[in-house]
Amino acid sequence: MEGEMEFKRGIKKPFTGPEPKISIVRLEQDIIELGQIGRNSADGGVYRQAFSEADMQARQWLIKKIKEIGLEASMDGAANVFGLDNRAGTKSSFLVGSHLDSVPCAGVLDGCLGVLAALECMRVIKENDVPLKENLELVATSDEEGRFGGMLGAEAICGEITLDRIRKATDISGNLLSKCLEQVGLEPIDMLKAQRHKQYMSGFLELHIEQGPVLDKQEMDIGIVDGISGIFQWKVRLIGESNHSGTTPMSMRKDAFQGVCEFSGEIPRILEENGSDHARATIGQVEVKPPNPHTIPGAVEFSLVGRDFTEESMQDLEDAFRRALSAISRRRGLMFEFEEVSRISPTLCDKTMISFIEEEAKQLDLKYIKLPSGAGHDGQFFGKYMPAGMIFIPSLNGVSHSPDEWSSLEHIEMGANLLLRTLLKILGK
Ligand SMILES: [Zn+2]
Repeated sequence: MEGEMEFKRGIKKPFTGPEPKISIVRLEQDIIELGQIGRNSADGGVYRQAFSEADMQARQWLIKKIKEIGLEASMDGAANVFGLDNRAGTKSSFLVGSHLDSVPCAGVLDGCLGVLAALECMRVIKENDVPLKENLELVATSDEEGRFGGMLGAEAICGEITLDRIRKATDISGNLLSKCLEQVGLEPIDMLKAQRHKQYMSGFLELHIEQGPVLDKQEMDIGIVDGISGIFQWKVRLIGESNHSGTTPMSMRKDAFQGVCEFSGEIPRILEENGSDHARATIGQVEVKPPNPHTIPGAVEFSLVGRDFTEESMQDLEDAFRRALSAISRRRGLMFEFEEVSRISPTLCDKTMISFIEEEAKQLDLKYIKLPSGAGHDGQFFGKYMPAGMIFIPSLNGVSHSPDEWSSLEHIEMGANLLLRTLLKILGK
């Protein structure tokens, strides 16, 4: 599969803009190198789930790269990797980066693009000896993809992790977080030491692929993220009565699956009446019990994931879903139970940061729109503690979390240069 790591599109239009500029050749090389770590040649996907051998190998690779630039490299107790340009000599740092972990069978850009573009920006700033007002720090977070629930790396930095959670968290296969940490030589309790006080972090900026179709469809170069959607996940159970599918008249059934279908049909109305234009809800997992073609389903367990952009509309959606489930259950003689598996509040991006990105995008003559992010990102946690901003570049055909995930080199170059210009605007003297 060696030859297959080639880029699908060469550069058609060279990037013109003010100096200093990032080197797309070096950035491309870094994307290829990092993309080989944890790559499965059979399906072409990247397997770098949090705290796996491959994930840790990628972190060591990054530490080597940071040192090659002449920056200080370090890794905290949550496996977050940092690269510090401390020439400004300030106590606090401005953070730039993204995550290094991946979902199973991922592409090479999700998370990595933001880390590697930040690395390239810091390389350019260092080799041009650009004076900075404040220390600039690369951050490559751990477990952003939620293998153990939430976004552990960013949460650990923000001090939102408890010992209880470190002890109890498991992944979908039942592996204990603490065991996984020990297996790669990390002390679980050290995760608590990753916490950094607010006063030592002044802001966070991230470049990421959109992972959706909007920018690609509208032929935009750049998306300036104005907010990151909140998300709640429920496990819902509707309980009726299993019975013979031939002898039980339709009017005498307590069919739990029919209840789920009715609820599912009401989702569009509930979103329209209670959510914002960007509200979403998905039933992605359904288990019918007993699973038998000749038996009326006596119970159904299903997942419900809802997303929206303000705390009020999230709350309204949650209330409306509860009301609908209880009304349907009452009408159909069912019982309903639910538990909240997880909930992350929505976060608005910092207004000043948005305006800085916008000014620079105009300067570079890039076609951009402002848009919300339907996917979760580290900025959701960082944004509660410091001003956070996010830049998107288009994902070809909107594909992500797949080996087919890709963005054109032109857009990668534009995004990385916009990241550099925004950093210089915020930190340049
Ligand atoms: Zn990501």
